[in-house]
Parts: sequence; C-alpha cells; structure tokens
Amino acid sequence: MTRAPIPSSSPVAEIDLHNIASNWKALAKLGGSAETGAVVKANAYGLGAQKVSQHLYEAGCRTFFAAHIDEAIEVRKTVGSLALIFLFHGVQPDNVEAVIENDIVPVLNSLDQVQLWLKHNAPMPAALHVDTGMNRLGLQIKDLKQVQSTLPPNRIGWIMSHLACADTPNHPMNARQLELYKKVAAIWPHAEKSLSNTAGICLGSEYAFDLTRPGIGLYGGYARRDVFEPKNCVTITAPILSIIEPEPTIDASIGYGATYPVKPNQRLATIALGYADGALRALSNAGLVFIGGVPCPIVGRVSMDLITVDITNATSRTSVLDRVEFLGQHAHIDRQALAARTASYELLTSMGDRIKRVYYPSDGSGRE
Ligand SMILES: *Cc1c(COP(=O)(O)O)cnc(C)c1O
Repeated sequence: MTRAPIPSSSPVAEIDLHNIASNWKALAKLGGSAETGAVVKANAYGLGAQKVSQHLYEAGCRTFFAAHIDEAIEVRKTVGSLALIFLFHGVQPDNVEAVIENDIVPVLNSLDQVQLWLKHNAPMPAALHVDTGMNRLGLQIKDLKQVQSTLPPNRIGWIMSHLACADTPNHPMNARQLELYKKVAAIWPHAEKSLSNTAGICLGSEYAFDLTRPGIGLYGGYARRDVFEPKNCVTITAPILSIIEPEPTIDASIGYGATYPVKPNQRLATIALGYADGALRALSNAGLVFIGGVPCPIVGRVSMDLITVDITNATSRTSVLDRVEFLGQHAHIDRQALAARTASYELLTSMGDRIKRVYYPSDGSGRE
C-alpha cells in the first residue's frame, strides 16, 4: 500500500478504513441475521465521519446513527439518499424541519418529542427509544400507554433500547433489560427491534434482534478475546523533539509539579504530543508509548503539547525526529485507556484537531 508522506514534526493519526470495514463485517457475522448499522456520532468517534461513512457504505453498510442533526446531515450528504440515518437525540422545535427535509429517522426519547413528531405529518416512520433501566434517555415505561393512544402504530418503525452494563457480560442487569425490552417491543409487533451496541452484540445472538448499533468495535476498541478481536484502526504517532540524559542529582525531576524523580543513566525523550492532542493528562506517570515495539513509560506530567518518555530500554539508535507510537498495534487503545482510568471512547474522541488524519486507502484524489 502506498503511504502518504507524514509531516516530520507533527503528530499524525493514520486511519485504516479497510480495518474499520473488516470490523464491521466481523460484528455483522456475530449479529447473525440482524442488520448491522454503524454509529458515526461525534465525527465517527474522532476518526472522520465522512471518510468512515463513505467507506462503510461502499462495504455494504446501509444504516447509520448520528447524535446531532448536523452530524446526520453530513452523513446524508456523504452516503446519498439510499441509506437510513437515525438521529439519536430526536426531534426538537428547531431541527424537525431539517429532520424531515433530509429524510432522517428521529429517535423519539420523550413524550414531548412524540407530540412534536405527531404535529408534523412526516412521511417516514420514527423510532421509539424506551428506557429499560438506564435512566438516562428514552421514554419511561409508564409513558407507553400514552404513546399507544396518541401515535398511530404505523408511524413507529423501530423500537430501540440501550444496555447499561453490556461490557460486563455477567452483570445481572443485562438479562433484566433484555426481558423488559422483549415485553416492550411486543407492544408494537410490526416494528423492527434494536437493542445492542458493540458490547451487546458480544453478549450473544439473543441480544441482536433486527438491527444492531456498533460504534467502538468498528474503530478497534472493546476487544473481548473470547468473542471479538477488532483490528487496529488508528495509529497515532508523534516525533521525538529532544533526547537528554539528565544528571541524576538528588532533587532532579521531570516536568510540571516535579512528580517524577530522575534516575541514574536514564535516557529521556520529549515528544511532540500533549493533552491538547488527546494524550490525556491522566496518563501522567501511567501511560506508555512504543518505540520499535519497545514499551517506554510516560514519565512526569503530560503537558499541553509535550510528553516525556523513558527510552532507556529502547534501541540506542533512537534519535530526534524518530516517531513513537502513542496508539496502535502495540499501544493498544484499550490498554492506553485503562492506564488513563478511562474508556477507549474518551481516548478516541479526545483526539485533537492538531493531529493530522491520514487515511488508508486514500480516496485517490490526491487531497490527502
Ligand atoms: C453510542 C451509542 C451506541 C454505540 O455504542 P458502542 O458502545 O460504541 O458500540 C449505540 N447505541 C446508542 C444509543 C448510542 O448512544
């Protein structure tokens, strides 16, 4: 594969669209007969909603999920008129016209949204999001009688709910939500059913229903060795700006707050990547980068534009402008997220605008 030149002095995210499509296919297989959509909210988890949607569309995906109206419209413009595009946040007085105009399927989350949708005689059916225990967004069970009496059943095309604990397979809440969801969905037998995100798909085929909604698994997060091992889709590298071997004086330390004492014979590299780029500050004295496959711990605090890493164990040939891997094949996204005591979702969506996104395969336009 020909690779575009990478600017030598800045952080770069190389995004592998082939692997995203291949993860989508793997999740489709796990979902059995269910149709497999793609969640591309938040700019496809920071990777670029246009590129990702376009590539997944070419791979056969025909259903996309966005959270905000602007995201939904961007996807519509990208994939054309044949795809289904759902809007998780549903209709509001100021977006309902745009929803109809762009042929977006709103996910109705409250009685107010049901009322608003009812007032607009839209040609397409809506999705109902019923809260089965997360107490976050969605119609409450006690609201459903009123929905039944106001919204004609032919205006409801999908019944949706969302799992709170799917990433903990043994959590009793999974089975509880599944049972309640089945009861709710039985009220509208003609409607299609959708319950599962990535982790839900991994719980087993009884969670897949008619339509699944994977996000993070498409992008290489949520590896579950027993069922699903996604391919790496994002490789973030950044160049070394300087290498030093500081004097290990008694009070020598590294970075803001002097949180890490310098050790004898320690070789330190300072990298052009900081929390403004998504190297979360919580990775201070906790994360790792890799140089030629060798783990190099982040030492001292992460600052806005820089991190310092201990390269004592890396090859002695390591020099200025060599690139280190912050996320990728070695610096696995789940592992880096764990080190920051967060989730892969936050790590991806924190990727700053300063990181240049380079796509493989490129679209051939030469604009990459
Ligand atoms: C974000 C989101 C998803 C995707 O979840 P992943 O864990 O990223 O697979 C699915 N459904 C809803 C309602 C969401 O908000």
